[in-house]
Amino acid sequence: MSLMNTDLHSSLKKYFGFSKFKGLQEGVIENILNNNDTFVIMPTGGGKSLCYQLPALMKEGTAIVVSPLIALMKNQVDAIRGISEQNGIAHVLNSSLTKTEVKQVKEDITNGVTKLLYVAPESLTKEENIEFLRGVQLSFVAVDEAHCISEWGHDFRPEYRNLKAIISRLGDDIPIIGLTATATPKVQEDIIKNLGMNDAKVFKASFNRPNLFYEVRPKTKNVDADIIRFVKQHQGKSGIVYCLSRKRVEELAQVLQVNGVSAVPYHAGFDAKTRSRYQDMFLMEEVDVVVATIAFGMGIDKPDVRFVIHHDIPKSIESYYQETGRAGRDGGEGHCLAYYSYKDVEKLEKFMSGKPVAEQEIGNALLQEIVAYAETSMSRRKFILHYFGEEFDAENGEGADMDDNTRNPKPKEEAKDEVVK
Ligand code: ADP
Ligand code: MG
Repeated sequence: MSLMNTDLHSSLKKYFGFSKFKGLQEGVIENILNNNDTFVIMPTGGGKSLCYQLPALMKEGTAIVVSPLIALMKNQVDAIRGISEQNGIAHVLNSSLTKTEVKQVKEDITNGVTKLLYVAPESLTKEENIEFLRGVQLSFVAVDEAHCISEWGHDFRPEYRNLKAIISRLGDDIPIIGLTATATPKVQEDIIKNLGMNDAKVFKASFNRPNLFYEVRPKTKNVDADIIRFVKQHQGKSGIVYCLSRKRVEELAQVLQVNGVSAVPYHAGFDAKTRSRYQDMFLMEEVDVVVATIAFGMGIDKPDVRFVIHHDIPKSIESYYQETGRAGRDGGEGHCLAYYSYKDVEKLEKFMSGKPVAEQEIGNALLQEIVAYAETSMSRRKFILHYFGEEFDAENGEGADMDDNTRNPKPKEEAKDEVVK
């Protein structure tokens, strides 16, 4: 083991208490310590934060971390402060700080105390912040959730487009680290182009989830009965049922309850108190099933979710991957079942028709891909991974027989006939 690696492992242990790196972390961190641009693509939960936190703690100067969500930043800052005696080791810079607080942040940065400075892109565009940051020693800039730069991603934020210009003003050759869990080639191209990272070393982890079983069933008028049967076959196990509309969420939750399934509804129309009550009931296993819109799931970490059902087809393969990704986090069984009818696709198209043309075009293109997924007769795992630019060996790859098409191959025509149009 090289001297550097020994160093890295002892720092990992010292700061985070871990004895091993996860996945590609070590290579990423070495690349950052060598002052190179770095592009990190890892699924959610892959351990991306540590990829920039550890080198930030080891390097001279302050690392700027751009992140879109204030709540996320606060969590991370609290976690980093927990590993140090010095409160100033990590700070958030945003418009909610008082003058005194801003003064303290600036003082800590100037004195070399602050290793990680979290900022929202809006704060980074402020001229007085740029002026200040130009004058201090910076180690690198990490752009977390870098897919926000792309209209092809699921969370486009126009302010992310200005980042490159601002970073260039902060100093010469400041290394840039881009991080995302979005694996689609289009989004990656956008990130590299927008951040000017053509020379970046790319670290891409596999997105294969071998313990998840993928299945698509035609959606008939008996879909509710079918779902009830499925849930009863998984009695006592935790599962999520996603529906497109709030109305459907409430109806289906009720239908399940009436049929003896312990279920709660969840959507953004409930007040915060009700939402957190239902969420807790699911997390504490007072109920087995949560019927929800996509408002449910962000940041939910329940390791033993055994099934994720989509009552309606999701709007893209990427959303489907993220939503089904909540199943089987513990490595155990995870059944991902989607109901599909072309009528639902038309509904989604109609949904989009009020939006700007460019947005509609992107939305429709993404929708056509999920339609192709639903209608395919090939390995669904291969289909998903191909979409993410990943080659999958459908015969011998990990999880190769874990989908309906591979288990029960059927002639294409027959499969098509079953689809309700
Ligand atoms: P991501 O941003 O990729 O979704 P996070 O950075 O939030 O993932 O990390 C996910 C989890 O993995 C966190 O609980 C983190 O503490 C844990 N983790 C990260 N690196 C390691 C490691 N080397 N060993 C053990 N756990 C780790
Ligand atoms: Mg993250």
